Amino acid sequence: MDVSSERRLACDVLVIGSGASGLAAAVTAAHFGLRVVLAEKAPVFGGTSAWSGGWLWIPRNPLARAAGIDEPPETPREYLRSELGHRASDPRLEAFLENGPEMVAFFQDHTALRWIDGNAVPDFHETPGAAKGGRSVTALPYDGRELGDWIGKLRPPLDVASLWGMGIASGADMRHFFRASRSPRSALYAAGRIARHLRDLALHRRGMQLVNGNALVARLLRSALDKGVVLLDSAPVLALERQGGRVAGARLSTPQGELLVEAARGVVLATGGFPHDPARLEALAPRAGGGAGHFSAAPRANTGDGLRLAEGVGAAVDGELASNVALAPVSLVPRRDGPPAHFPHLVERAKPGIIAVTPQGRRFVSEADSYHDFMRALIAATPPGKPPHCWLIADHKSQRRWGLGWSKPFPFPLGPALRSGYLKRGRTLEELARACAIPGVALAETVARFNAHAQRGEDPDFQRGESLYNRVQGDAEQGPNPSLGPLLQGPFYAVRIVPGSLGTFAGVRTDAAARVLDRDGQPIPGLYAVGNDMASVMGGHYPSGGITLGPGMTFGYIAGRVLAGLPVIGLSQEETP
Ligand SMILES: Cc1cc2nc3c(=O)[nH]c(=O)nc-3n(C[C@H](O)[C@H](O)[C@H](O)COP(=O)(O)OP(=O)(O)OC[C@H]3O[C@@H](n4cnc5c(N)ncnc54)[C@H](O)[C@@H]3O)c2cc1C
Repeated sequence: MDVSSERRLACDVLVIGSGASGLAAAVTAAHFGLRVVLAEKAPVFGGTSAWSGGWLWIPRNPLARAAGIDEPPETPREYLRSELGHRASDPRLEAFLENGPEMVAFFQDHTALRWIDGNAVPDFHETPGAAKGGRSVTALPYDGRELGDWIGKLRPPLDVASLWGMGIASGADMRHFFRASRSPRSALYAAGRIARHLRDLALHRRGMQLVNGNALVARLLRSALDKGVVLLDSAPVLALERQGGRVAGARLSTPQGELLVEAARGVVLATGGFPHDPARLEALAPRAGGGAGHFSAAPRANTGDGLRLAEGVGAAVDGELASNVALAPVSLVPRRDGPPAHFPHLVERAKPGIIAVTPQGRRFVSEADSYHDFMRALIAATPPGKPPHCWLIADHKSQRRWGLGWSKPFPFPLGPALRSGYLKRGRTLEELARACAIPGVALAETVARFNAHAQRGEDPDFQRGESLYNRVQGDAEQGPNPSLGPLLQGPFYAVRIVPGSLGTFAGVRTDAAARVLDRDGQPIPGLYAVGNDMASVMGGHYPSGGITLGPGMTFGYIAGRVLAGLPVIGLSQEETP
């Protein structure tokens, strides 16, 4: 695969985008003997996947089964029927359910990927077929040194959500950090992790204890290197190349000039959707802030290129999903040297002593519901034509214990967040209300009502703490309900929440073999789409955490097999040419 003087590169498969979905396609195809080139627009590999929690929703996965959780195939199907409405008949869902466990086993057996289970992670909702756990996996933490020099090419964790660049894993790791000021054992644990991180910074100029999505991508990157995938960074794909109606490659911009990559078997689009494409957001997500008012937590390089490239060769985009974006509450962290960073509120919202109120000072949701449901409720509570926003409110004890967004818990000082205007503070609720331009009487009434019920472990207004998902997100030490605690002692704090997302759901129409479909529903020869470039198999519904990375990697695996000419469970020979 030498670059010739005309700047051409020949391969079997070109993958565009280096998130978990694109890497899964590349690794699978390379494992089965194909010559694979992967082109990444950014100077680092990993996309949103490297910033993510790294959780994949894979019902009936091998880790759950090994732990004795052996649910019948019908149960996850029933859950999807309960959650997805008419979208539950999408044939891609069957391919996902059947091949997801195979994908997990494939990566465990043949690559550097090692999994840990999420057997205690419940589904978001308690509709028929829901599970209390056993449907999630994530990557085992990874030692970045295994990547050698390539560690410099791995997208580091999202800085505003990390501790000096160190990711903290959900579960026991995070619990230790939250308890560090109250438990000597946890303090020792946290001190050990931080000491090792500081040593890594001194020796390698970045953290090496990789967790969450960072570990997932690092392990996939290691696997891609092991299998001889040619990895090109800073190489945005500009246009697809066609030969006789078939997509046969693409033109890339590289630091050395334009490069034509000829892909004999096909091209896989994996550019991570359109979370930073203002025009498409305006068209497809106007209520979620639209173009300029939508603040996605995904990297800014995800500008919808895959959808545009596909449309350029006749592909259809499905933009009529239940939600066209994977909504998330975000706050804007001021930066001295550029536009604000987007902080996704995935954890502290659900903790006791923290509530959310509208600009009118009223609650509108169970704050412990999923990020997506939280934002859907905010949008529903916002009058049409007004940009949705709200305030997360905490008392002193809760802010010091859990932090509030970018303002971290004790022992971190509050000064920087207060001085920058990110964190509002009032000695009393009235003072806080004034600082946030919320009606003071309404806020006082809201907090008094919430407190009265929270003391008893109840929330008659929004049933917070009734679902297992709510309780798991709370604090196991809090009684009588882990999800509910009153806001008692000032000073009180607030952070403004604006509409954002973890990524997008609308995308290119495909069949169950990940082949891109044209406007007549016919596959476009040689073109595949996976991850957030593929219209969500969940139809824009959000039944559980991990429903983007789970299908993303599964269809990456399917595309890799199809490109290698191998059978795929549940698909006929015509579907796997
Ligand atoms: C904080 C956070 C936590 C999350 N946690 C989870 C979780 O636990 N589970 C889950 O399922 N989802 C989670 N998500 C969502 C999930 O991360 C994304 O849905 C998923 O990573 C998308 O994967 P992808 O492979 O489609 O795209 P990405 O991982 O975004 O990768 C796309 C890549 O394509 C590149 N690219 C763009 N344009 C071009 C071009 N023209 N040429 C070449 N390359 C291009 C981009 O630079 C990027 O590197 C989370 C998101 C965030 C922000």
